[in-house]
Amino acid sequence: MEKLLNEISSECLAAYDIDCDVPIDCEIPQNLKRKSELDLPNISEIDLLRHFTNLSRKNYALSTTFYPLGSCTMKYNPLISERIAKLKNFTKIHPLQDEKTIQGSLEIMFELEKDLCEITGMDAFSLQPAAGAQGEFAGLLIISQHFKYIKQKRKKIIIPDLAHGTNPASASLAGFEVINLPSEKDGNISIDKLKSLLTSDVAAIMLTVPNTLGIFEKQILEISKVVHSNGSLLYYDGANLNAVMGIVRPGDMGFDVMHLNLHKTFATPHGGGGPGSGPVGVKSFLEPFLPVPRIKKTSKNNFTLDYKKPKSIGKLKAFLGNFPVLLKAYVYIKALGSEGLKNASQQAVLNANYMLARIREKIEVPAGNRCMHEFVLAPKSVLKNNIRTLDVAKRLLDYGYYAPTIYFPLIVAEAMMIEPTETESKETLDKFVDTLIKIIFEESEKCPQIVKNAPQNTPVKRLDEVTAARKPILKWQ
Ligand SMILES: *Cc1c(COP(=O)(O)O)cnc(C)c1O
Repeated sequence: MEKLLNEISSECLAAYDIDCDVPIDCEIPQNLKRKSELDLPNISEIDLLRHFTNLSRKNYALSTTFYPLGSCTMKYNPLISERIAKLKNFTKIHPLQDEKTIQGSLEIMFELEKDLCEITGMDAFSLQPAAGAQGEFAGLLIISQHFKYIKQKRKKIIIPDLAHGTNPASASLAGFEVINLPSEKDGNISIDKLKSLLTSDVAAIMLTVPNTLGIFEKQILEISKVVHSNGSLLYYDGANLNAVMGIVRPGDMGFDVMHLNLHKTFATPHGGGGPGSGPVGVKSFLEPFLPVPRIKKTSKNNFTLDYKKPKSIGKLKAFLGNFPVLLKAYVYIKALGSEGLKNASQQAVLNANYMLARIREKIEVPAGNRCMHEFVLAPKSVLKNNIRTLDVAKRLLDYGYYAPTIYFPLIVAEAMMIEPTETESKETLDKFVDTLIKIIFEESEKCPQIVKNAPQNTPVKRLDEVTAARKPILKWQ
């Protein structure tokens, strides 16, 4: 077990001496002065290097293993985007700099907004939201503001049970009442059921497309017509654009508001809550409500920040959003071009369908003839000896894989949700499927204890995840 830095600290060691660049006799108010020495560990340079290298080796990461985490798009993101985002010209700018001195960065954001509009068929985007869920929240505030301005009392949002879990949470947070729409067996929506819920106080329907079963809603144009004829709006959860970019556009399907997850589809690796970006896009009639400031191009070809938007929902995030994430998305889009983006989606869908076709012969897949970028297994009927999906997922760790998403979506018992992404080879996909089949059909029958007690080869064994979340013990005894 790796010790903490404080535990390997020894007074006579030092990797680095910090020269204080603040004059010692400068006037720091007494109450702000430190009462005792700063308790920093003393460690030699090589031990410090080993400590962090050893810790990094305990990590699962895309740079070490296949990461089939459904609903997350854990794909390889080209390192060129990282490298460009690290250029000093970008990292050394300060958000409080005069806008005249950051013209290049403003231009990049302006261009990115235009590219996102082209990719999605929307008319305007705000790059401010810091995550998908914040993009949803922004979109719902925009919807709320729209109905306030046209003086209609609409307080309900319809959300199918196959939407992403953040959708109902965002809708409640934005002050709406959530109406659940149960999906049909084939994973689509019933137009009749939808019609029966469409009362005059419905503000919008929020659709995750493809939905959490990995299915593209077949009757999308019909839904769009029915919802609009009720005076309600359509919200597109576009976190999973990886399945459709370059192929179809939410704007063309009739959606009024949407968000994207740049940290899933557009080249920012994610996980561990790291920096994200969930731009919110709208059709032109909703543009006045977007968060301020808006980046504008003046007649002199300069870029300026426009705060004069009286109908705006206001500011959502400090400054202009997570700029490095925006930069990486910009690089990714420019590097791939429209054909490259389309190709990425097609490959992602092909990879998922290839795995699905192999697994479907052995394990039930609800609504599973075809999928988009991901699919959901229902292994309940083939699991023997009290083995559960959780055990299978833990056993996959022993084979060096990151586990797929499990127990989501909620409507599938013992669900296992797999998303391979476009960046994995056929060999990787085959090996993973072989391993999964071996765990479920061989190990679970011949040596169920091994599966029940997995993982064995990881730094820690099975954790009590509930207690771990509620009472984290951050120090090993
Ligand atoms: C990931 C995801 C979200 C939430 O995005 P965050 O950045 O985690 O807030 C919303 N909807 C769908 C469909 C997603 O896959």
